[in-house]
Amino acid sequence: MIEPGGVIGILGGGQLGRMTALAAANLGYRCHIFCPEANSPAMQVSSRATVADYDDAAALARFADAVDVVTFEFENVPATAAAVLAKHRAVHPRPEILQICQDRVKEKDFLRAHGVGTTDYRKITNTTDLTEALSTLGASILKTARWGYDGKGQIALKPGDDATAAWARLKTDEAILEARVDFACEISAVLARGIDGAIASYVPVENRHTDGILANTVAPAAIAPSLAARADDIARRIAVALGLVGVLAVEMFVTKSGDVLVNELAPRPHNSGHWTIDACVASQFEQLVRAVCGLPLGSTERYCDAVMTNLIGADVAMWRDAVAEPNAKLHLYGKVDALPGRKMGHVTRLKPRA
Ligand code: AMP
Repeated sequence: MIEPGGVIGILGGGQLGRMTALAAANLGYRCHIFCPEANSPAMQVSSRATVADYDDAAALARFADAVDVVTFEFENVPATAAAVLAKHRAVHPRPEILQICQDRVKEKDFLRAHGVGTTDYRKITNTTDLTEALSTLGASILKTARWGYDGKGQIALKPGDDATAAWARLKTDEAILEARVDFACEISAVLARGIDGAIASYVPVENRHTDGILANTVAPAAIAPSLAARADDIARRIAVALGLVGVLAVEMFVTKSGDVLVNELAPRPHNSGHWTIDACVASQFEQLVRAVCGLPLGSTERYCDAVMTNLIGADVAMWRDAVAEPNAKLHLYGKVDALPGRKMGHVTRLKPRA
């Protein structure tokens, strides 16, 4: 167990690292942020920082030696960086999980191998693959296998579309073609798993996206209790299969026929779990701190229902209204440039449990 006073190393300096560092501070821990950009959102609230590239092996080794445990706030950590860190310190979640979750083909293969339902998909490495897969899968979405996020690196396609042009546009050597799911809604299940294997899960939530970016999360999702239980069970099974220590978010589609299909995994705190800061006994960020330090997990019980709204780009100007609303909790990430598509903050509106 790493006791309060210890130092948690976090790879990545964005808002997820920032909110983890705030939760760590509440429990008496300090955080050391490793990130290529100076003055990143997480660094602004942490006592220590290393500004270096993720392929700087010497800086990574020094960082690992200076902390008690390493975690990360995004899954696109280069495999080489994770390997260097793991040589020096415990890394939670373990680097093998990153390798699965940073590649959409590996991730879906892993899910299928463990009996978890996903949409039909094909690995694509050239135009011929794409032409064949498109004729089998019908309306579908072509996604880069790696490094995509928030709907970036995705092209919607239908049979008859120009596969050569689409493949050229994606500018990658490996992709996945996924059959388009005609979903009733999108949900996610967020949970934490401790070093002892204990799991604490939050109630599944509904996620609404605009232009591929999460706009709102409604907690809890307005779905039948049996569906919520199924989503929770799927997320738990995946966490066990991964051997996860930390926080896991499982994004899922609820189909119109009542099926639950997993879209994507995030082995870290997730945007759809931000509501837990204000509405639950222990937030997803506190759970990450507890899990990686070997503390018992906190309670995921919710005090109230919540709707979380992201402040994206120029939306951040809405902070003036949000801060004046009695039941709204405003969170700003300390980012200076409100670029289009950039997550600047979020607002969680609380209301009594239904
Ligand atoms: P992703 O980056 O995979 O999370 O995709 C971003 C968003 O695009 C999802 O939240 C969905 O709204 C939509 N999307 C992604 N994949 C599919 C799919 N196979 N079928 C339907 N919609 C999808």
